[in-house]
Amino acid sequence: MAERIDGHTLLIGLMAYPIRHSMSPTMHNNAFAKLGLNYAYLAFEVDNNNLADAVLSIKALDMRGSNVSMPNKQKIIPYLDRLDSAAEMCGAVNTVVNDNGVLTGYTTDGIGFVKALKNEGIDVSGKKMVITGAGGAGTPIAVQSALDGAAEIKIFNQEDDIYPVAQHNAQMITERTNSTASVHHLEDKDDFKEALAGCDIYCDATNVGMGKLKDKTLVSDPSWFHKDMVVLDTVYSPRETKLMQVAQEAGVNHVFNGLEMMLEQGAAAFKLWTDEEMPVDYIRNLLF
Ligand code: NAD
Repeated sequence: MAERIDGHTLLIGLMAYPIRHSMSPTMHNNAFAKLGLNYAYLAFEVDNNNLADAVLSIKALDMRGSNVSMPNKQKIIPYLDRLDSAAEMCGAVNTVVNDNGVLTGYTTDGIGFVKALKNEGIDVSGKKMVITGAGGAGTPIAVQSALDGAAEIKIFNQEDDIYPVAQHNAQMITERTNSTASVHHLEDKDDFKEALAGCDIYCDATNVGMGKLKDKTLVSDPSWFHKDMVVLDTVYSPRETKLMQVAQEAGVNHVFNGLEMMLEQGAAAFKLWTDEEMPVDYIRNLLF
């Protein structure tokens, strides 16, 4: 690190709270070192209280930009100068780019999802999709898939505070893209089962399968899946979730966890800041 930092080094931040656990500084700094790029990436404990000052510092210090995570993904929007279309549709930002004092907000989680599938030879364009969850992950996945040409998106969510968000997302996607999106009750098992039977791609973007819900899955009956579909669980810790086990039991050909999506969302931010491709294979081998 010491030999890499000099008077020209450009700073990129990560503004979130809590944030000390994040892998992003390790990921980006190793990628900068590998490519010999003169950037440094640091995590800053920023919550809603010091967010305004932190965003001003991006301009004041002529930082190249920042990642943004909870609790700032929505709150940062009024402090930015521009939003790209996906961030505007999601109402959330995870990446800020500073171009000579003009701050633009992007969301790269959906780009990461689409790219992770593309790397496996799967194009979302023209596909029928089912997504469970409409929070911080489900929203950009639905929006980016729609922008990239998915034909139909059925969003299933439980009856909670996120349900109206899912309804808003579905209406906006249908109005503003060529996709048709609809929102459904996750509690309606017959509807969920029928949607899975008719879909090409199923993505679980809920918290089920990790943490306290590690041993849970929204689909426990392998007969709900069919071999030709894609099943992607956004969870990557554990690497193999209960949902993935059920999909494998059903003989589903393409079953993925969320690791490649996570790497590719980072790579998309890396590209926005540096205009270079992140060495994703190198980072995967080094860290995961
Ligand atoms: P969030 O809190 O914003 O949204 C959570 C979603 O899960 C909501 O739709 C909620 O209704 C649903 N949910 C929660 N508990 C549920 C339950 N018991 N049954 C059914 N639905 C339930 O969270 P988020 O940031 O959207 O994260 C969701 C998942 O996505 C997490 O597992 C997270 O690890 C994963 N994620 C992965 C990546 C990646 O790059 N791979 C990135 C972001 C998030």
